[in-house]
Amino acid sequence: MNTITLKPEKDKSLARRHPWIYANAIEHVEGKPAPGATVLIRAHDGRFLARASYSPVSQIRARVWSFDETEPIDHAFFKRRVQRAIAHRQTMVRDTGATRLIFGEADGLPGLIVDYYIADDESRRGQLVCQFMATGVEHWKEPIVKALIGTTGCPNVYERSDVSIRQKEGLEQITGVLAGDPPPATLIANEGGVRYHIDVERGHKTGFYVDQRDNRALVREYAGDRDVLNCFCYTGGFSLAALKGGAKRVVSIDSSGDALALARQNVTANGFDPQRAEWLDADAFKTLRRLHEEGERFDLIVLDPPKFAPSREHVDRAARAYKDINLTGFKLLRPGGLLFTYSCSGAIDADLFQKIVAGAAADAKVDARILKRLGAGVDHPLLTAFPEGEYLKGLLLQIA
Ligand code: SAH
Repeated sequence: MNTITLKPEKDKSLARRHPWIYANAIEHVEGKPAPGATVLIRAHDGRFLARASYSPVSQIRARVWSFDETEPIDHAFFKRRVQRAIAHRQTMVRDTGATRLIFGEADGLPGLIVDYYIADDESRRGQLVCQFMATGVEHWKEPIVKALIGTTGCPNVYERSDVSIRQKEGLEQITGVLAGDPPPATLIANEGGVRYHIDVERGHKTGFYVDQRDNRALVREYAGDRDVLNCFCYTGGFSLAALKGGAKRVVSIDSSGDALALARQNVTANGFDPQRAEWLDADAFKTLRRLHEEGERFDLIVLDPPKFAPSREHVDRAARAYKDINLTGFKLLRPGGLLFTYSCSGAIDADLFQKIVAGAAADAKVDARILKRLGAGVDHPLLTAFPEGEYLKGLLLQIA
């Protein structure tokens, strides 16, 4: 059996059930494990710690499958993990055609993301969309896909492993059909009574920001009779929620024409009056400033930008970008107005994000009050042993 022995004292994080083993914690590797092969992890004194998948080129050299010495890593193991993850979703997530079934480390399947879409028509056609982001899940792709199909009963599986993080694992980016039929050109899923077009093949991530479900519901709740501005709107997730909630007018900004085209179709698919929705194909930073200079004001603003800090080195620049949009966002609010502001940068934690937003409020000379702290939905659980899993954080603020 391929075995990794850790340096003295380097077994502490595993004792806390953290699932990653960094290269610098390793004393030696016995055998010649191939990428994705299962390795035994031992403490310096030889104690069993875990079974893990081996990743020879990544700094995260191994990812834990199981801390249980008696648990073999085989097809049955993946079937159990997949079934468990899906069973948890079934008890927790309702009234949606877009669910995250598997969320990596939190489901004991490091590096694997699976979203499940159900078409909002008589066919109720299902579509599973997967991202394999580590050598371990890549190695076990076949049994994982089989277990997904067996557990959900959905035969259609599409892969969106076109993520740059695969390079760090020595893996090529790939996309394509893994099972069943290709995704339909137009897949419409229903979330809480709102219909969304989802472009599985070309959209961001798996096609839709499944993680913002609860936040879309909140925006919908508070949008009634308000003038709404949605920045970085992508296919209009928050914009549609605001329209459904009875917003007077929704102005949405994004620099992607393709995303806006889908957003416009979403207005029609829901039978909303297109006059209530304005779509600006433009840079959000400049447009926010322009709207402010022109004297536009809003009652509710959503700022949900792309990941400004892809890693730690980018934190300072990202902080300035977050501050910039939040500063102008505050200035664009009418008294009593609401700001929904987000960061999906893992490298910026909730404390730092709050400080950045506080700095923006101070510079805008407004008293901003936090009404709620926001995050991803319950189908994106955060493992207590793995705080790195918390990437999406948000604040709902009201200015005085
Ligand atoms: N809020 C969206 C997800 C945002 S993804 C949702 O809930 O569905 C980030 C979006 O920002 C992408 O659609 C991207 O096209 C857009 N974007 C990136 N940089 C931008 C910029 N400088 N100005 C405007 N839009 C930008």
